[in-house]
Formats: sequence, structure tokens, C-alpha cells
Amino acid sequence: AGRDLDVVTFLASRRHSGVVALVDASTGRRTTFAELWRAVAGAATALAAPPFGLRKGHVALILSPNSVHFPVAALAAMSLGAVVTTANPLNTAAEVAKQVADARPVLAFTTRDLLPKLPRAADGLRVVLLESSSSPAPADPRIVATIDEISATAPDPARRRDRVTQDDQATLLYSSGTTGPSKGVVATHRNLISMVQIVMNRFRLEDSDTTETFLCTVPMFHVYGLVAFATGLLGCGATIVVLSKFELPEMLRCISAYGVTYLPLVPPILVAMVAHPKPLPLGNLRKVLSGGAPLSKELIEGFREKYPQVEILQGYGLTESTAIGASTDSAEESRRYGTAGLLSPNTEAKIVDPDTGEALPVNRTGELWIRGPYVMKGYFNNTEATQATVTPDGWLKTGDLCYIDEDGYLFVVDRLKELIKYKGYQVPPAELEALLLTHPEVSDVAVIPFPDRDVGQFPMAYVVRKKGSNLSAQEVMEFVAKQVAPYKKVRKVAFVTDIPKNASGKILRKDLIKLATSKL
Ligand code: ATP
Repeated sequence: AGRDLDVVTFLASRRHSGVVALVDASTGRRTTFAELWRAVAGAATALAAPPFGLRKGHVALILSPNSVHFPVAALAAMSLGAVVTTANPLNTAAEVAKQVADARPVLAFTTRDLLPKLPRAADGLRVVLLESSSSPAPADPRIVATIDEISATAPDPARRRDRVTQDDQATLLYSSGTTGPSKGVVATHRNLISMVQIVMNRFRLEDSDTTETFLCTVPMFHVYGLVAFATGLLGCGATIVVLSKFELPEMLRCISAYGVTYLPLVPPILVAMVAHPKPLPLGNLRKVLSGGAPLSKELIEGFREKYPQVEILQGYGLTESTAIGASTDSAEESRRYGTAGLLSPNTEAKIVDPDTGEALPVNRTGELWIRGPYVMKGYFNNTEATQATVTPDGWLKTGDLCYIDEDGYLFVVDRLKELIKYKGYQVPPAELEALLLTHPEVSDVAVIPFPDRDVGQFPMAYVVRKKGSNLSAQEVMEFVAKQVAPYKKVRKVAFVTDIPKNASGKILRKDLIKLATSKL
């Protein structure tokens, strides 16, 4: 019967009752595990009753920045077998409307600031405000209650009639839409449970290791933040300090004030920490995890030099794999720079020639296919995309160009969709970016395809110079030309003050391409 449990019941069996589960960084308010599980059970009871009547298979939307209420809402809905879909709070009303039209939620958890982004036309959508304040709720007929009100309901397990099994859907996360239209990714309770177990195993976060304190600044609406809080709360019983948005001084204050030991982050945060002229005070911090986007050798070296007391770990994955398909621990990483690490436990992988579909031997570059207990069921409402991405026997085509070395270490070369097509050649922009970051006067860089009638596309670099540098476009082009094959040369350079990136740290190449070509 143990296998027939939802993620919350399966993983929350140890309650760590007196330990602090959540800390609201903005107010300092602390919630113990006993209070958290009571709030989740209370909210679930209220949500199962009228007027919500939330049942298995219903979709509940969370549109919110990171907050201590976010996990309560997500876990309460999931424990009823409802499917949690999350939206980026920076999305426009039109983008939210599109997701709502696709996912068809019956319930939305949101904040009063974000309320105007919820489409008015969505029939029967009921709203729970994610706030603890007792100030009067805005006049909006859709608002039924606040999260604190529903969490205070007396838990009544009899209300939770639907039997939830590990094969039921738990989340419907939308991919970032970096390389194409955003798609809804369905993950089951089994996918999530296996991912929590993998993260604990790979990053040595012990079961019931209530001595860990996580800082959650990575977005909870993204699979990265979701898995981070699920690992802390459901997996190891860690304390999670919740930051609503990333700001370096506030992050540092929290690290010291709350004794943070483990910090999942995205590469741009590492860039800020390494760029700081003096080492920043990091208190008890022992591990940082970088994920969501490639991490350059320079950044790893720069971080190690400045913060020798902190281990730097890396995770590679995608929404479709419920987060982490491969990861490093620091001993491995110091032996092989540039690797995204070893495959997660219970993972099979192969490198496939994207043109012929043929499996390639070690050290040959092709598309990475992975198979494991955390691979998504498929895309929501999109059979065509599902068939193009998951094979009938369960292989996920990651869309990433990779190779695996003789010892099983994974190296991510670039995303297939982002390759620059110069004449008949394919140029990986990530390779040129990594190279340009080795230039002592370059602090950040993005390489994009620039359209050209004769050659198709050629690499163009947007460069952020270090303070005081007078580096010229010519010098940038020569620096690259000396070190790469001629077809990979950077043929155009522009200087900017920063590189646009999304919440998971990825370069927004689409924006830069628009900028570059708007002048044509
Ligand atoms: P869309 O598919 O809609 O364009 P997205 O792929 O940007 O959205 P995510 O699931 O957030 O949405 O991104 C997954 C991708 O992030 C991976 O396929 C990979 O290219 C990249 N990535 C994640 N972690 C790493 C890493 N450690 N090193 C290199 N690339 C990484």
C-alpha cells in the first residue's frame, strides 16, 4: 500500500515537529514542521469542501513570487490529487491568459498585486489570496479566502476522498519558452518523489538532516525552486528561508542571519558573487548548487579562489526531467572542468546522432537521450510535441547537444535549437561564450546568430566589459579568431552593460537577436 501514496503523504511521514520548516525572510516569521503539516492538512480540508470542491485531476494555478505560502498551497492541492500549475509572476496578463486557457484551472492562488493578471473571463475561477495580512481583501467576487484562513481549518482526513497514487499527476509546469513556445510538462507524484530522493542522494542531504538550512531564492514556479523546497520540506526536513526575489545584499543578510548551509542558485548569482572585489561574508554556507544554465570554467575557478570554504556543485536538467538528470559533486568536478557530472541514479542515457537517430560511442557529440523514473509523462494537450520528444519506450530527447566521456561524465555542448548555422557548419554559441569569458577584460557575454544573405548566419557577440576596460570590437574578434576554426569566428561585436537572462539564468537570445536585427 506504501506505493499508493501521494507525494505529500509519502515524504512527509517524518514530521520533525519542533524544527523550523519555513522562515519568511521579509518578516522573520517562522513556521515549524508541526505547524506546516497542520496548515497543509487544514488547507486541503477547506479546499476539498464547498465552495472549492477541489478534486483529483482538477488544476490549481499558483501565480506568485516566492513566499512561505507557496509550498502550503502547492502541497495542500497535491495532497488532494489536484494538479499544480505555476506561472511566472513576471508574465504579462496575456501570457497568463494563454496558460489559463491551456491548463483550465478551477482555483488560483495569487497575491493582490498579481490579481489583475488573472483573466476575468476564466469561468468559475476561484481565488485564494496568498497572504497572511488581515487587511480587507480587494473587492473582487472571485476571492474566496486567504491562505491563512483556509489553513486554519480543522483538518478532516475524511474530506480527502480521492485515492491518490504515485501515477497520478502532481504538477503541470510550463517550460521557460527559451527556444520555442512554452509547453505544459506533466509530472506525476512518482516523478517528484524520485527527484527528491535523487537530489538528496547526489548532494548528500541526509534523511532527517534537520541541521541543513536552505535559502530559496530560485523561483518556486520553476522546476528548480519546486524541487528545492520539496527536497527540504518533504525530503530531509531542512529549514527553508524564503526570499521573494534575488538581491545580493538581502541574500547575504539572510545567509548570516539564519545560518544558511545550502544555497541553490543560477549562474548569474555566481557572477555577482565572483565579480565582487572582496570575498563576501558567507557565514556557515557549505554548499552552493548551480543549475538552469551552463557554468563556465572561469566562474568555477573564480568562485573556488574567492570562497574556498564552500563546495560548488552543479546540476543539469530540464523541466521535462523534473529537474536533475546529471550532477557533480566537487571532487569529481575538480578532476574534469566543464562537466555537468554523472548521471542521476536509475538513469539510462545515450548520445544519438540527431540526423540519423543512430547511437554514438563515447566522446562523440550528439543529442542526449535519457530514461529514468523522473521523466515526464508527456506534454499537456499536445500529442504532437509529446511524440516528438518522448519515444514510446520512454526515452526523453533532451534537445541538448552533449557527449559522455569514457568514465561516464556528461558534457553539455549547447542546445540543438541554438546552434548557429554558418554556411554548412554548426557553431555552438556556448562554446564561444565560454572562450570569451576567459578574456581578462570580459565580465559577461552572449553569442547570437546574425542573419546574413551569403553565409546564412554568423556568430555575433554581445560583450560586457569589466570596469575601466577599453577593449575594442577588433580585439574581441582577434581573440576568438586565434583560438577557433575559421567557420566559428565572431564576425560582429557590440558592447552592452548587461546580458538579459531569464529566471533560470538562461541568456535571452531571442531578445538579443531582435535587438541586433532591428537595425537592419
Ligand atoms: P523551452 O523548452 O520552452 O525553450 P527551457 O528549455 O528554457 O524552455 P528549462 O526546462 O528551464 O526550460 O531549461 C532546460 C535546459 O536548460 C536544458 O535543456 C539545458 O539546455 C539547460 N541547462 C540546465 N542546466 C544546465 C547545466 N547545468 N548546464 C548546461 N545547460 C543546462
